[in-house]
Amino acid sequence: MDGEQIEFAAEWSAQALRHMAENGIPPCPENYAVWFRYASGRTPELNKEIDARIARQEPVNMDATAELRERFMDDGKLTDVTLNTGARLNTEVDRILKIIEETAGNSSTFGQSVRNASEALTNQSTPNDVAHAVEAIIAASRKMEERSAELEETLQATKSELNEMQQSLEKAHSEARTDGLTGVNNRKAFDEALVREMAAAGANGNPLCLVIGDIDHFKKFNDTFGHRTGDQVLKLVANCLKTGALSQHFVARYGGEEFAVIMPATEIELAESVANKIRETVQARELVKRSTGESLGRVTMSMGISLYRPGETGAGLIERADGCLYAAKHAGRNCVITEMHETTVPQAKAS
Ligand code: GH3
Ligand code: MG
Ligand code: MG
Repeated sequence: MDGEQIEFAAEWSAQALRHMAENGIPPCPENYAVWFRYASGRTPELNKEIDARIARQEPVNMDATAELRERFMDDGKLTDVTLNTGARLNTEVDRILKIIEETAGNSSTFGQSVRNASEALTNQSTPNDVAHAVEAIIAASRKMEERSAELEETLQATKSELNEMQQSLEKAHSEARTDGLTGVNNRKAFDEALVREMAAAGANGNPLCLVIGDIDHFKKFNDTFGHRTGDQVLKLVANCLKTGALSQHFVARYGGEEFAVIMPATEIELAESVANKIRETVQARELVKRSTGESLGRVTMSMGISLYRPGETGAGLIERADGCLYAAKHAGRNCVITEMHETTVPQAKAS
């Protein structure tokens, strides 16, 4: 985003906050996103609708804002612009507060009042004149004090409101990238991380591996024990992945019962051994239904691993990991196959 857009964004943000204050709308990120969009004019239909409501003197309150978000915005997603604006506004408020602090002692208005009052005094001044001058100085300084205290209070309140808003924006940002069931990164986060890590690997020359894993015969598990029990298994598998992956690895739920691990700075042999450890951990867990103590047996996982080739697209890297996963399924499941060793005999399977 260039400088000019940031300037606009700050202005739109101020407008959005004003509109929200005028209409008694809480400044949560979702509401803010609608009014920010309105101020930016980027969605003409939204502006037309809001303007029409204002013309009809219909209040555009919180409920109306929620409805507008549903109708006119792509699920009200918070754009990076709004996030950047929050940060930018905080900087602005900080700057203003600093100016106030610095000038509170010697404000020019105050200085001028004092100067005027003292200049009015001459050798011929009567005690009455002096009394007047002193009164004027006291009044000016009191006013000055009140004004700056009031201003400071307002700005502090604005600042804490903005801080709160930024925190909720950050929370929304992270929630939008987390899988609700398992708590690991979701597909959106995976897509972003893959682009980021491929670019980094291209630049630093470190090996980058991609693991895609899929639970074996999961449909049968669901059919036998129910979807909700299946969900618990997904959580457990996600935990095994999180625990087994190295610190630089990025674990994500890639699809329904498929998981992916992006492994920066990882040779394919290491990727394979990490994947195998995870596979063994999953296989080792005997599943027991907590409520009844009923044993649900075990689940296993098959995994495929590809190694990034500088210059290739993410689709290519994913396709090769998928190809290996397919080979792992064909080799009898519960095994890991890397693109280097597609002909390797799979590991012994669980009985
Ligand atoms: P394979 O070993 O070939 O992978 O067999 P599979 O049965 O695991 O493969 P398939 O793709 O046929 O079935 C995947 C199943 O995963 C279908 C669906 O019931 C289940 N599944 C997908 N997402 C979820 C989910 O969020 N929760 C639960 N409980 N099950 C899910
Ligand atoms: Mg599958
Ligand atoms: Mg499966």
